[in-house]
Amino acid sequence: MAIADVAAGIKSVHHWIGGKLVPSESGRSGVVWNPATGEPQAKVDFASVEEVDQAIQIAQRAFVDWRATALSRRSETMFKLRELVDANRRRIAELLTLEHGKTFPDAMGEVARGLENIEFACGVPQLMKGGFSEQSSRGIDVYQIRQPLGVVAGITPFNFPAMVPMWMFANAIACGNAFILKPSERDPSVSLLLAELVKKAGVPDGVFNVVQGDKVAVERLLAHPDVKAVSFVGSTPVAKSIYETATRNGKRVQALGGAKNHMLVLPDADVGMAADAAVSAAYGSAGERCMAISVIVAVGSVAEPLIEAIRVRMARIKVGPGMEEGNEMGPLITRDHRDRVASYVANAASEGASVAVDGRTDAACHKSGFFLGATLLDHVEPGMRCYNDEIFGPVLSIVRTNTYDEALRMINENPYGNGTAIFTRDGGAARQFQFDVDAGMVGINVPIPVPVAYYSFGGWKASLFGDLNMYGPDGVQFYTKAKVVTSRWPDPGTSKVDLGFPQSR
Ligand code: NAD
Repeated sequence: MAIADVAAGIKSVHHWIGGKLVPSESGRSGVVWNPATGEPQAKVDFASVEEVDQAIQIAQRAFVDWRATALSRRSETMFKLRELVDANRRRIAELLTLEHGKTFPDAMGEVARGLENIEFACGVPQLMKGGFSEQSSRGIDVYQIRQPLGVVAGITPFNFPAMVPMWMFANAIACGNAFILKPSERDPSVSLLLAELVKKAGVPDGVFNVVQGDKVAVERLLAHPDVKAVSFVGSTPVAKSIYETATRNGKRVQALGGAKNHMLVLPDADVGMAADAAVSAAYGSAGERCMAISVIVAVGSVAEPLIEAIRVRMARIKVGPGMEEGNEMGPLITRDHRDRVASYVANAASEGASVAVDGRTDAACHKSGFFLGATLLDHVEPGMRCYNDEIFGPVLSIVRTNTYDEALRMINENPYGNGTAIFTRDGGAARQFQFDVDAGMVGINVPIPVPVAYYSFGGWKASLFGDLNMYGPDGVQFYTKAKVVTSRWPDPGTSKVDLGFPQSR
């Protein structure tokens, strides 16, 4: 079993190093809450510097053999992992709901989107193909190969404890690297179930490791010379600091940060469809998605009918524990986070916004879990805290504008640039928006445009620090480095000394 019961009757979540569970000896740990009940449900180890060093050393040793393993064998292993994750979807999703709180169907969706990345990585022999130029000069060929980096680390957020690790480790391992995952300390158990499946698939011990913990573990990963690359997903201040520290230490880094995703609705949009999309994208997973829609920019006359259609749909959202059938929105991750989100609702009126629907009055808020109902804020404007900050909860803001240009300017002036969407029936307007907007992922009548696994995921501006996006083709590029070989097999009869600079013609 990945999680062992300890004497206190509460589960302990350990590290996974060298193909087995390793309890921490650091003496430090954190509480894992059950967000649906408000009770603690596990204790998670926090790694010491020495434990992180041990994981890196084991990974470094495992890397030597793994990078020499045939591509076809690595591909076969990914196919096996694909089958195992597929067969264990429900187990992963249940564990995820238990610790994160999101509804079970939503958790199943998360697993499915993570699995896509393993499917992509099955094609690693094709993905790692280099290039070859015959006869670059007489008798000389030039070719480029791609090689793995070594030990690479992934530091992941609480909101996708299965999918985001799979975004990273599927490509990292398939490309021949050894991987160290530092999951969120708030929902750490899924990482151990994934580790079991990775081992079962035949990935050699030490190639995939999990180090549980907090910033002590992260800081060591950023400093250790044997960690060659760092993938991070989390909030913007941490992403920025990780990018700065790790690049200063000579590592390759992709650090994805927070978001404030705007959905622009033009007056010609289908109001029912736009309202369905807004409610789904704002309140799914209780708004704890980096691609959640948190601002609707309603242009002109569409505002009133759209808000009315949104209100009707909000009234039907069922809030409650994620494992109870029929519930559509679960609790938030912790009590502190719930209270922080609720404080934006409490302050909205004093900032000049109006609270059109107050989620604090939802019946679920009387339960002991970390619940908060869906909230709609109207007449929000840039400059208000509820607009400026990433709230990361079930709070949707409406900003009203008179023109497309005004709406576009607002989106482009926002410091974040993760996802955005336009709702319209006008193809020309949609194409213009796609051309104009400063964001990395754009939806046209699609509210959550998370790219499929054979494209790459990444925002612009304060939503991503680094040059390469996550997963897909960029993922393969991130986890490999190019080597160019210039080769000649001369006829010894033509060989001579020539001190001139090599010419190609
Ligand atoms: P977070 O930044 O608090 O934590 C992310 C990871 O960093 C965790 O593993 C955590 O242990 C670690 N960490 C936290 N503080 C640290 C510090 N000071 N030093 C070193 N490590 C630290 O983020 P979170 O609350 O777990 O996740 C929610 C955030 O993640 C939101 O801002 C959301 O938008 C963002 N997110 C972004 C994407 C994306 O693709 N851009 C995807 C998912 C989540």
